[in-house]
Amino acid sequence: MGETRHTKVLIIGSGPAGYTAAVYSARAMTDPILVQGIQPGGQLTITTEVENWPGDTHVQGPDLMVRMEEHAKAMGAEVISDHISALDLSRRPFTATGDSGTTYTADAVILATGAQAKWLGLPSEEKFKGFGVSACATCDGFFYRGKDVVVIGGGNTAVEEALFLTNFATKVTLIHRRDALRAEKIMQDRLFRHPKVEVLWNHTVEEVLGDADPLGVTAVRARDVNTGKVTDIPCAGFFVAIGHAPASDLVKDQIELHHGAYVKVKPGTTETSIPGVFAAGDLTDHVYRQAVTSAGMGCMAALDAERWLAAQEAG
Ligand code: FAD
Ligand code: NAP
Repeated sequence: MGETRHTKVLIIGSGPAGYTAAVYSARAMTDPILVQGIQPGGQLTITTEVENWPGDTHVQGPDLMVRMEEHAKAMGAEVISDHISALDLSRRPFTATGDSGTTYTADAVILATGAQAKWLGLPSEEKFKGFGVSACATCDGFFYRGKDVVVIGGGNTAVEEALFLTNFATKVTLIHRRDALRAEKIMQDRLFRHPKVEVLWNHTVEEVLGDADPLGVTAVRARDVNTGKVTDIPCAGFFVAIGHAPASDLVKDQIELHHGAYVKVKPGTTETSIPGVFAAGDLTDHVYRQAVTSAGMGCMAALDAERWLAAQEAG
């Protein structure tokens, strides 16, 4: 039987939202506990250059997140390496169960579990995951030195992944289902100017092709959405960059959601449908989904939690 830890404010998640909430909560003397989850530092740890974090013209995502963790700790937050597998929001104090066996009880909870990569949902994609199919160029790009790769998606992530992969691959084909990208214009400009990149417009991927022994990708089968024509594009690696879905599994049956799976907050606040539970970052935001907006919401959540706790104490 593991130990039980009580805290005034439990922060779940260690992306920009979680760490910023921790900085503000610690400075409000609420002795917050932050549980990092299986991706300490969150999504920015799987990218390289971040060019839109105010105050840093260029900063590596993983470095920025290490700095945020150090900042939260320096302010007095307790940062714990654990993953919450169950959360009971039906009564107070709220109870969270960690994979470590520790039970966390909390007067207030800040949900900052962010988002996770989406997949196409193809059986062949599943079969080759980790054997040529990836959702993280920063993690796996190195394996494709001198080889051809394909990226699918049309947002900032897809363009960034494609450009990053040019460091290793001989050729990068970006497949997009429409005839225009939604990535920022500056990123598009870099992509279109890159000699190693080819864009295949108006196509989807319907199958990943490969060898069984050893297991590995040899091509992707793309379909023209206008003509239905099918083309096999030879490649050794296939990177899926079609967006991210909010990580709301812990709370989806307990709390009000919006746009499918995002945690709903009262406009202009981080208050969820459960008093004492606050949400910040990509978990709640289907529009902006940026590091700086997540950090901003983390700050709001800490302030909202602090005021809510004070009101409870005042009766
Ligand atoms: P996340 O960063 O998603 O962090 C979520 C955290 O929750 C993780 O630490 C995870 O371990 C934890 N967690 C999840 N479930 C549990 C659980 N059950 N128990 C405990 N912990 C849990 N934005 C920019 O502004 N600039 C950029 O240049 C930029 N580049 C990007 C590049 C890539 C490849 C990607 C994928 C995203 C990029 N973004 C960028 C978007 C940015 O990373 C996100 O908007 C931001 O990280 C969201 O922060 P967050 O704190 O809400 O959640
Ligand atoms: P996104 O902006 O939601 O883009 C997802 C892309 O994938 C879209 O182009 C979409 O096509 C395509 N897509 C979705 N489902 C698909 C499917 N089933 N098959 C084929 N294509 C599919 O996601 P993202 O690029 O991961 O970005 C998420 C957030 O993080 C954004 O807010 C982004 O700005 C931010 N981010 C910022 C930076 C940066 O600032 N440098 C870097 C990375 C991410 P449609 O266009 O047709 O919808």
